[in-house]
Amino acid sequence: MSKSYDEINNGYWLRRTKRDGIPADCRLAYNRCLNWLTSHNKQLIEKMLPPTGCALTLPVELTHIENYLTGFTIDYRPFYRPSASDEPEGFHKRDAFDPAHITIHFNQNAPVARQQFTKAHELFHVLQLCDPKCLDFFDALVEDTSLPPSVIMKLIERGADKATAMYLMPTEYFYKRYWAIKETGDEFGSEQLQDLANQFGVSVETAKYRLQEIGQCITPKQLSPMSIDF
Ligand SMILES: [Zn+2]
Repeated sequence: MSKSYDEINNGYWLRRTKRDGIPADCRLAYNRCLNWLTSHNKQLIEKMLPPTGCALTLPVELTHIENYLTGFTIDYRPFYRPSASDEPEGFHKRDAFDPAHITIHFNQNAPVARQQFTKAHELFHVLQLCDPKCLDFFDALVEDTSLPPSVIMKLIERGADKATAMYLMPTEYFYKRYWAIKETGDEFGSEQLQDLANQFGVSVETAKYRLQEIGQCITPKQLSPMSIDF
């Protein structure tokens, strides 16, 4: 048996073939885990936001998730860092003497929509740390060595990003506003997308991603290709 055949058998070559940071042999397990996490977060978000049919103030305020995190006190503290780096735009810390006190640090130099996204993203990390089902899920993943730590970290980040998008752009409301704008004109292009993004207090890239996620089309000729990382 040749050495290269051995390598194919043990998946080594697959582990070196990455897309979006995920090795090829981990992609199926990663996608399954992300689907579970997204579905779980969707149920949590439905508990946080007012029931379907009730009025919801837009852009969605962070108070809904803050109130859901009963027992925690949350502070927001800005820092300043030039944008256009790969560094995270925020992070959170638990008080060493009072674990129920969380400080969320965010880059004040980022656009306002990005700052809000970052704060919500960090709140979802806090939620992940105190939600029993999430903790069991990640404990099981860590014990199962088939997924490398870098992939589990990616899952945690991507899961928080997707939850944040669902929270800031709840499907029913987002869908309704999309159609309200669409019905006023012949097309849904960059101007209309900006309008929709403004209503939900998110960036154009984030709104575009969410639209695609819920299966709505945007007039392709009106939009330049965008790289969306979540
Ligand atoms: Zn994060």
